[in-house]
Amino acid sequence: MNFYILTLFPDMVSQGLCTSIIGRAVEKNLIHIETINIRDYTTDKHKKVDDYPYGGGAGMVMQAQPVYDAWCSVVERVGHAPRTIYLTPQGPTFQQSMAKEYAKETDLILLCGHYEGIDERVLEEIVTDYVSIGDYVLTGGELPAMVLVDAISRMVPGVLSNAESGTTESFEDNLLEYPQYSRPEIWNGKRVPEILLSGNHAKVDEWRREQSLLRTAQRRPDLLEKSKQQKNAE
Ligand code: SAM
Repeated sequence: MNFYILTLFPDMVSQGLCTSIIGRAVEKNLIHIETINIRDYTTDKHKKVDDYPYGGGAGMVMQAQPVYDAWCSVVERVGHAPRTIYLTPQGPTFQQSMAKEYAKETDLILLCGHYEGIDERVLEEIVTDYVSIGDYVLTGGELPAMVLVDAISRMVPGVLSNAESGTTESFEDNLLEYPQYSRPEIWNGKRVPEILLSGNHAKVDEWRREQSLLRTAQRRPDLLEKSKQQKNAE
């Protein structure tokens, strides 16, 4: 799967995505992450990419021309116009189900805004999806783009070493994952739940399912409601 990230701060993105599981996936060519510096595409002789907003108001707005030309450079290279996500607080909030859906794409363009955002006219031309990572305002779209690349990459076959771990984690069936324990058996006077040492896989599965439901009810009752609705619809 290929990610093309249009940004004014390519180092921030590439440095943030070169370690751990995502870094290994890049090395194994399971995913390809490319940053495109929007500033390289400005036709302004001073390399300017932003200007004052029409109608007045605070801050600067990223201009349409460099964003459009940066996007066209990717489209020309890949030979088609890939799904293009603009990271914005104004989009629907990113969910695990969206990560799974995007992981089916071969090419994905992620557009990072900065300052007050991007000239609306270019967004109308190139953006297919608007995605937020939560109801708060960040300085730029780079962190949100990294969040998407990480979550989507985990859904690409082969990226997670244990094929199970992507499908048993939180948000599967709208439930949170059960609590996890590792060695030693007793830490700080606290024992690992006896059932996990029993070797009885059926009982362990049952316990985990109960814990999952309990935890979701305590921490995310809204999800539990969704889970029930999903079950009823099946
Ligand atoms: N003026 C914009 C507004 O009120 O909707 C906010 C602009 S924000 C300071 C600059 C850039 O950061 C945005 O263009 C977007 O790319 C990114 N951004 C900020 N918060 C975000 C969020 N919660 N989710 C996704 N992207 C976000």
